Amino acid sequence: MAKIMAVNAGSSSIKFQLLEMPKENVIASGVMERIGLAEGIFTLKYDGKKEETHPVLPTHAEGVDLLLKTLIEKGIVKSLSEISGVGHRVVQGGEYFKDSCLVDDTVIEKIAELADLAPLHNPAHIIGIKAFQKALPQVPQVVVFDTVFHQTMAEEVYMYATPYEWYEKYGIRKYGAHGTSHQYVSQRAAELLHKPLKDTKIIVCHLGNGASICAVEGGKCKDTSMGLTPLEGIPMGTRSGILDPTVVSYICEKEGKTATEVVNILNKKSGYLGMSGRSNDARDVTAGMEAGDHRCKLTFDVQAKRIVDYIAAYYVLMGGCDCICFTAGMGENLIHLRKNILNRLGVLGVELDEQANNVRAVEQEITTKNSKIKAFIIPTNEEVMIARDTVRVAKIR
Ligand code: AMP
Repeated sequence: MAKIMAVNAGSSSIKFQLLEMPKENVIASGVMERIGLAEGIFTLKYDGKKEETHPVLPTHAEGVDLLLKTLIEKGIVKSLSEISGVGHRVVQGGEYFKDSCLVDDTVIEKIAELADLAPLHNPAHIIGIKAFQKALPQVPQVVVFDTVFHQTMAEEVYMYATPYEWYEKYGIRKYGAHGTSHQYVSQRAAELLHKPLKDTKIIVCHLGNGASICAVEGGKCKDTSMGLTPLEGIPMGTRSGILDPTVVSYICEKEGKTATEVVNILNKKSGYLGMSGRSNDARDVTAGMEAGDHRCKLTFDVQAKRIVDYIAAYYVLMGGCDCICFTAGMGENLIHLRKNILNRLGVLGVELDEQANNVRAVEQEITTKNSKIKAFIIPTNEEVMIARDTVRVAKIR
């Protein structure tokens, strides 16, 4: 039985899950946060326990060393040789990466080159990869890209109608994101539909603080709502989603800001936060709506309307749809948002089962038997996809 570490390294954090494959059991999971600050936070879950400590973590390297040492101390592994592979989430793989792959110097160079398209993520992933390479030099390291699943989009889908030279010179096109989640959820949906994946037409709504919709036909991505960066698509926790680009130059002139500053506002101060004026967290906006706040209700209505725009477009693109899936923090937990979305889809024969929808974070069908399109809640599991790919790519037995 192989033990695989699935890693998601951010600029000041390392999220991890240790899985036993091929059973896909989670042996331990947790996160190291506030790396580089005076006091870090190390949360570790194992054996039904949750422990939190506050070590000093000057860099990711100390974080990884402490994690591995702790795994042995707690008896989670007897020795580090039990870890057969490490799989790293990487946000942006551009057009260069068409599949997950083993890490070497060229791969790291390419991920660094692609940092222009994911400045907050790719450099942090490299720091994480190097820290694990140093700590576990004999263990294969695999990178699993959020963009790979979307590389099957047709040219007419991923091209923007901008000067063609922008694509040739700078790679300006749609890349999408959350691919690992969309792939996991669509594979699981095919199982719930009792249909071979190749015969399915599935729309996945990954609704977290970042959110994207994906049309998956025969297990392959046909279209997705995120674009060159995760700003495109539907409104999110702090991101506006799609709008007329003229808004940028207009606000630059009105408020004396640079384009970069305005795009920063579209990324960090818009969406739920900007519209509601309260919070990027859906729980706070829900509380506001329930207390009668118009802007909070409007926030959800605007998002639901835009989500339905994408669902309708993808229904036409695929020539039908077997099921709509809800996943991630809001998709799994926000009962009223799922209802708001599905009630707008009556014209397609979607019929919500209110009682079945009245749950959080469980895998469940939430439409009636008569519904022409089924809807499911499917909790996402990106770590298991990373572990599966690590086993496949590194040929671990
Ligand atoms: P994610 O990015 O997938 O972690 O999702 C974060 C979003 O999910 C936040 O907006 C949270 O408000 C929302 N969320 C998480 N748990 C719950 C919950 N129990 N009820 C409502 N919203 C939740």
